[in-house]
Amino acid sequence: MQPSKSIHDDVTKLLSDPQKMLIDGRWVSSASGQIFESLNPATGKVFASFYAGTKEDTEKAIEAASQSFDDKRWCGKTPTEKARILWRIADLIDENADILALLETLDGGKPYGAARYGEIPVAAESFRYYAGWCTKIHGKTMDISIPGDFHSYSRREPIGVVGLITPWNGPLVMAAWKCAPALAAGCSIILKPSEVTSLSTLYLGHLMIQAGIPDGVVNIVTGDGMIVGNTIIHHPLVQKVSFTGSTATGKKLIQAAAGNLKKLTLELGGKSPVIVYKDADLEKAIAGIGAGIFSNAGQVCVAGSRLFAAPEIYDDLLTGLIEYARNIKVGSGLDPATTMGPLISKEHLARVLGYVKK
Ligand code: ADP
Repeated sequence: MQPSKSIHDDVTKLLSDPQKMLIDGRWVSSASGQIFESLNPATGKVFASFYAGTKEDTEKAIEAASQSFDDKRWCGKTPTEKARILWRIADLIDENADILALLETLDGGKPYGAARYGEIPVAAESFRYYAGWCTKIHGKTMDISIPGDFHSYSRREPIGVVGLITPWNGPLVMAAWKCAPALAAGCSIILKPSEVTSLSTLYLGHLMIQAGIPDGVVNIVTGDGMIVGNTIIHHPLVQKVSFTGSTATGKKLIQAAAGNLKKLTLELGGKSPVIVYKDADLEKAIAGIGAGIFSNAGQVCVAGSRLFAAPEIYDDLLTGLIEYARNIKVGSGLDPATTMGPLISKEHLARVLGYVKK
């Protein structure tokens, strides 16, 4: 299935101007006016642009988030009010799934069907799942083993402003996985998508505002990791950072977090192993291994990128996997025959080819 002409037209219209950032409930250009271009990995051509936030823009967004947290315009809402808004975001993602999927395909190269029927519904379901948590986050009363007239209890409270930094391989779904739990907990957000794939996250911002997220609670600043990301990870008003990306940036984050003892959640790169025993069902194993390594053109931190097989089945497994790989059709995500989209960039292609050579 492919997007209709009217969806193409809607997206072309949407992208005719540089995409603005969301700061304190307003859609704004950056203080410097600097613009970054979005490249379509299938063609290598520029198809959109967005504003590159400055340190000043990022600080403004963090201060807006902090103000929104202090005056309790989100964390002070009742759990059911929060839940209703998160559920509404999920519905809006579903209603706008064609547009979001096309943005993911143009910006990140994914086959349209994989985005439309895979990642976009998962993003919506994340908001539904966490909508359920809003009413179920509570502390407990503890029995005390020391004799006397004591009362002891715990409370679960939102931590404050959270910095959410996402990579390019699953932009919308990553934004959902980070925003939905933070909002369910009552936190205020500064969200920074990868400079390589910022468009679907900005569109999600529109949906969140439409769903009723109050101004200043979710701020989205696009731009360079070394400027926007770096400002977030060092800022004293940011209490926690959730980051998915490279191990090198993860290390920088750990150092920066020492400043005000930020809490961190890090999801970094991996080289996940797959082990096949001699009594495995080879048909199932081949399908599983294929999906594990080739999904999203292998650009997944949990891709099964090392394979160990028992000597007894090694040759048959290899033959089956070669056949699996030969059947993959690499091409533009907008070609219905494509089962694997392009790698994200020329630089990444060169890196992968280098590994193959090695
Ligand atoms: P990847 O190899 O997946 O692109 P990166 O770590 O370079 O991994 O990028 C992941 C995210 O981290 C992106 O949003 C990027 O802009 C951001 N980022 C990059 N450098 C920094 C930094 N020094 N501080 C904070 N964020 C950064």
